[in-house]
Amino acid sequence: MKKLVLIIFASLQVASFSQVVDSPEITKEEIYQHIKYLASDELEGRFTGTEQCRIAAEYIAKEFEKAGLQPAFNGSYIQEFPFISDIKLGDNFCELINEEKISLKVNNDFTPLPFSDNLTVEGKLIFAGFGISSKENNYDDYENIDVKDKIVIVFRNHPDINTPHSPLEQFAGLRYKATVARDKGAAGIIFVNTSDKKDDDQLFKLVYDGAAKVKGISVIQIKRDVLQKLLSKIKLDAEELEKQITENKKPISFELNTTAKIKTEVIEVESISWNVGGLLKANDEKLSDEYLAIGAHFDHLGWGKQNSLYQGEPAIHNGADDNASGTTGVLELSEKFAFEKNNLKRSIFFFAFSGEELGLLGSNYLVNHFPVPTEKVVSMINMDMIGRLKDSSLIVYGTGTSSNWKNTLNDKNSFGFKLTFNDEGFGPSDHSSFYGKKIPVLFFFTGTHSDYHKPSDDYDKINSDGQEKILKYIHSVATEIINSENKPDYLAVERKDSGRMTASRVWVGTIPDFAGDVDGYKLGGVTEGSPAALAGLKAGDIITKFGDKKISNIYDFTYAIGNYKPGDKVKVLIKRADQELEVELELKAR
Ligand SMILES: [Zn+2]
Repeated sequence: MKKLVLIIFASLQVASFSQVVDSPEITKEEIYQHIKYLASDELEGRFTGTEQCRIAAEYIAKEFEKAGLQPAFNGSYIQEFPFISDIKLGDNFCELINEEKISLKVNNDFTPLPFSDNLTVEGKLIFAGFGISSKENNYDDYENIDVKDKIVIVFRNHPDINTPHSPLEQFAGLRYKATVARDKGAAGIIFVNTSDKKDDDQLFKLVYDGAAKVKGISVIQIKRDVLQKLLSKIKLDAEELEKQITENKKPISFELNTTAKIKTEVIEVESISWNVGGLLKANDEKLSDEYLAIGAHFDHLGWGKQNSLYQGEPAIHNGADDNASGTTGVLELSEKFAFEKNNLKRSIFFFAFSGEELGLLGSNYLVNHFPVPTEKVVSMINMDMIGRLKDSSLIVYGTGTSSNWKNTLNDKNSFGFKLTFNDEGFGPSDHSSFYGKKIPVLFFFTGTHSDYHKPSDDYDKINSDGQEKILKYIHSVATEIINSENKPDYLAVERKDSGRMTASRVWVGTIPDFAGDVDGYKLGGVTEGSPAALAGLKAGDIITKFGDKKISNIYDFTYAIGNYKPGDKVKVLIKRADQELEVELELKAR
């Protein structure tokens, strides 16, 4: 019944559209209608790569066409991009060989972890306690044992589990333990639940967490009784062993008289999703080859499997504020600017991204497969959640990414907004992808609320009056960028969030470059006067080793710095063009 009502309703809505939508002005009625449709149950929350996401993309493309924009991608408004949508179990085995051979059953006795590399490894088993190596806490499960080409078997958690906020907590992450084992030379790591989970010795579910694999190591979990079987042979007891380590906070690590043969295969399932892009080409002789990009993501959480903050029966997450509101902003601005086409000096790209909720996938793909060289893009304006204006309070991120942003924003504020500025160019939305390409950015946001990432983020809670004002404000800021003689300069703002591992608040001063796929952590720049700058690091350098840690990406780097404190000196290996250089960095406090 509900469905039938919806269908009738939808067709009425289309009819009423044509009367209001064709106005080139930014109006609250149009804002309301667009959001109501994009956030309708019919579109089921627009989850990346779904049929409903595709329908939303087509709706946006039609609006671009109606407004008179050119297709941005080689004659098409739609840009397809691949993404990893899921993982599944491949061919996995695990054999433990001493005087007998134990073949473990996948999903029964063992399971590969979602972030395991696909490898076949063989080596002596080493019991390595909790798999933690921390000099400053005087605790090292790897002290006095050589794990090179061997397979370590470790407990989950850490030996100080009964102390809240124990400093060892930050070393207990599974990914982190896996990178530690890999960096010590181990070919594989096997996790075992601690005894507090004894009654419920569950194996991990193979669920994709959206993050990259830990390269170069096989990672599995086995049941406790498998470990107990191995320990019984040398008359040891798993629970007793765990108790001794926890009580004394002293590692007990040793080689087991057992060899393990492990094959891990976690298959990444690739799917397709869509970005939408339209181009408004200006005709100024001098400046029409420069572009402003205006964008917003149009995907949301669908039925809320991942990233939902709601607990209960599966329900459609309509995402009216997040981000039917920003998508509508793109539509309304494109219409308005298309009408003013002849007064524009610079050209404008209008984009709607998907894959944002899964980690900026669409915008990241777009900036690496951009219709023109990205150097031609003078700035990017992003809108994500602009539908809940309250007390005229508007937040703008990216205000430090160009020297004149704050002046312009204050100048154009004839709407009485109480503006909050945040300088950072990297942040939790699609402008990050553009800032990673050294493009100055502005990100408009009306703040988070209790319906955020819940099914209750509905169209009837949108403040369309407020959004109309915001869009008129953005229109005037954008017009300034499009028509001023000089393009906005780019400023590098250091990223404040250096990751959850940095309990010691170490400052390095690197600015990441997210462009492209490199093995290492590529720098987009360094902050003046920072340890990185003093050590001579510069934009383009790729950090491949930090101390004794191999660095494959920014996450490895974040983990690695967590092991140090201000004042420490660290040897850092970098790649600069074809050269490999070693520099010494003296870390400072933030
Ligand atoms: Zn969003």
